[in-house]
Amino acid sequence: MTKKTKTILIDFDGTICQYDGWKGAAVIEGKPNPGAVAALLKYSTVFELVIFSTRAGTVEGRDAIELWCSINLPDSLRGLSITNIKRPAILCIDDRSWLFDGRWPSVNEIDEFLPYYKEGRVPTITVPLTFTGLLQMVRALLFK
Ligand SMILES: [Mg+2]
Repeated sequence: MTKKTKTILIDFDGTICQYDGWKGAAVIEGKPNPGAVAALLKYSTVFELVIFSTRAGTVEGRDAIELWCSINLPDSLRGLSITNIKRPAILCIDDRSWLFDGRWPSVNEIDEFLPYYKEGRVPTITVPLTFTGLLQMVRALLFK
């Protein structure tokens, strides 16, 4: 297997995992967001994936993410790096970020920002799966 040279940081709460508010570093009640497993499987064929979460700033939070991943992600996604440090990466996927495109958000835009789930929206599945990816998904779901 060749080492992947490009890394992406993927936020945990609200991005990989459903989230409805902070209940403690070790408390993770959400299931995978719709499309999350398919997206991670697809991305992992091209990029080094790093889970990025403030939870990982404590041992109990990091352990909770590892346990959640062992229960909710397929075996092929075992051993993903987990960090609370913004490592070098080509992209971050996060539910609480402003895409800086040269325009700074106003104070009101920052103050009134809502993640998608607080607007009542649910994630959509937009990652096209190859036949192999589809087989991986089915296998992951059947043999959990
Ligand atoms: Mg988040």
